[in-house]
Amino acid sequence: MFLQRSAVAVARRAAVSPLVRRSLATTAVRRDASPSTPTTHIKTLSEIKTKDDLFGPGAAPGTVPTDLEQSTGLERLEILGKTEGVDIFDMKPLDASRLGTMSNPVLVRSAGEEQHAGCTGVPADSHTVIWLTMSRDRPIERCPECGSVYKMEYVGPTEDHDHHHDHDHHGWVEPKTWADHVKPQYW
Ligand SMILES: [Zn+2]
Repeated sequence: MFLQRSAVAVARRAAVSPLVRRSLATTAVRRDASPSTPTTHIKTLSEIKTKDDLFGPGAAPGTVPTDLEQSTGLERLEILGKTEGVDIFDMKPLDASRLGTMSNPVLVRSAGEEQHAGCTGVPADSHTVIWLTMSRDRPIERCPECGSVYKMEYVGPTEDHDHHHDHDHHGWVEPKTWADHVKPQYW
């Protein structure tokens, strides 16, 4: 009797679980959104033109979907890339074969306003990781442990560049030092 009651409780919880309801709703929206798309064709990386192409065909009724059938968005883009040997998010570690210098810094690509990079020296793991913060306003950083120089290379969208000095709307604010609090007449 106890077992039966708990089984009923589990089934009831599952029936009203927001997770279950959301996945059903998503499936319905997707079917409505692209009625003309043949449901069995899986677009390859070269066929992805807009984010609307980043939907899978879904699984046949009664089967468990694979990632290739059901993944969407950035996850789908990454999976499609991997099937063709393209590393969409460039997950390679930074170049640790040399120390970066001011004239030839180690480049760190970033699509955001700021980027954190962990230095472990040359060769890699020579010192404990030291995190450096670079930004579009201040792209160059130097590791205080080994002296390697890093430079953020911005590769993100450029349309909002006019506003990027408006610090209220982006995360990075240059930290103040004691020198910033000296009265101007003493400069
Ligand atoms: Zn270092």
